[in-house]
Amino acid sequence: MTHYDVLVVGGGTSGMMAAISAAEHGAKVAVVEKNKLLGRKLLVTGNGRCNVTNNRDKEEIISHIPGNGRFLYSAFYQYDNYDIMKFFRSNGIALKEEDHGRMFPTTDKSRTIVEALKRIMEEKHIEVFLKAPVDTVLYEDGKTKGVRLQDGRTLLAASVILSTGGRAMPKTGSTGDGYQWAKKAGHTLKPLYPTEVPVTSDEPFIVDRVLQGLALRDANLSVLNKKGKAAISHRMDMIFTHFGISGPAVLRCSMFVHQTMKRDKTDRVTMTIDALPDKSAGELKQDIAKLMKDVGDKSVKNTLKSLVPERYLLFGLDRMDISESLPLKQLTHAQIDSLVEFFKDFRFTVNGSLPIEKAFVTGGGVNTKEVNPKTLESKLMQNLYFTGEILDYNGYTGGYNITGAFITGRVAGMHAAQSVLGIAQ
Ligand SMILES: Cc1cc2nc3c(=O)[nH]c(=O)nc-3n(C[C@H](O)[C@H](O)[C@H](O)COP(=O)(O)OP(=O)(O)OC[C@H]3O[C@@H](n4cnc5c(N)ncnc54)[C@H](O)[C@@H]3O)c2cc1C
Repeated sequence: MTHYDVLVVGGGTSGMMAAISAAEHGAKVAVVEKNKLLGRKLLVTGNGRCNVTNNRDKEEIISHIPGNGRFLYSAFYQYDNYDIMKFFRSNGIALKEEDHGRMFPTTDKSRTIVEALKRIMEEKHIEVFLKAPVDTVLYEDGKTKGVRLQDGRTLLAASVILSTGGRAMPKTGSTGDGYQWAKKAGHTLKPLYPTEVPVTSDEPFIVDRVLQGLALRDANLSVLNKKGKAAISHRMDMIFTHFGISGPAVLRCSMFVHQTMKRDKTDRVTMTIDALPDKSAGELKQDIAKLMKDVGDKSVKNTLKSLVPERYLLFGLDRMDISESLPLKQLTHAQIDSLVEFFKDFRFTVNGSLPIEKAFVTGGGVNTKEVNPKTLESKLMQNLYFTGEILDYNGYTGGYNITGAFITGRVAGMHAAQSVLGIAQ
């Protein structure tokens, strides 16, 4: 029976990189993947274009991994986002930068990245088992021994790297299988929850679909804690849907919705929208006063729709019981105050998010206190390593999770190989 130095469970983003890294460091490597092809999740990222990493410095990247990103510091010091770019470029893949530092292959196709990883794996003679779901990871005398596949085959290995991903978007293969093998090795899990996910609300205006389909550009969206303080704010686009809110600002806030609900022990959290973040309340009042002077005979609707989208304005006017045809100059001071408050601080409650299956990323996972941050080896089971989303860290979309997956894969693969081959680390 073949005995591998390093066996990677999961041929996804981090698993492919872990395998390449282990092979580059001299190990005999196999990857076991339950799908019939490698990198299925990577193929769907960045709308099928693969947001392969981000062109920002280390601190910025870590700050965009709000879920336990600090755990990644040690790995980042060994291999970082610039190394990822160098890796692809030196393997003939041209990359380009887009907004917010996001890096993509110039072909605009995820396939380019997945095919490159596959080609490099072939060149490095990495054995790949496809359609080979792992049933369990085998441990003996406090060390990894290999894996048993669902078809009954056993594959022996000195080191096992668990790269099975989280539970988000399970149709790509990440169904959370790895968690049970982490537990079997004695690990604890931080509770799983959906992140980078649309947020739900049962506010009447959502249930009645009053604003469904309306997008607010460049709005400042915040999650408030029970003291009314912003737990997080993100200034980006957002959209109202039939179940709640979605869009980039919402995805980024979603983790904080869950965390605030947990921390404040509540099933409702307040969010607030500042639709005009470039203007202070005072400036807005001055603007309205000027409009009253210049075009005060015209209706509230026709004069104020220059400030926010008309549908949003009409929604606000309706909530304040102000007739849209009222001449602007007839607005009372109290009505102007409430209008400005609506523009700057429209508060509503949310009650959670869509489920983890609809999320981009899984929050929670293998407790990182039980994992050596330098090597990504388990502190509880010798020669067991973890990479990617199975670990308790999560980043914003925009290349940060992919970066985390490539980096943890690279570092775990290197240390797994060096440990097996007896190379001092
Ligand atoms: C639609 C979508 C868009 C995204 N966009 C972005 C983005 O723009 N930027 C960003 O940073 N992140 C993005 N992400 C998140 C990012 O893709 C993931 O965090 C990252 O790919 C996780 O890598 P991983 O190696 O941990 O897991 P995965 O890439 O999920 O790989 C896990 C692999 O393990 C295999 N596996 C599982 N169980 C078994 C088993 N029992 N036996 C054998 N194999 C098994 C799976 O089939 C899978 O191939 C997106 C995610 C989704 C769903």
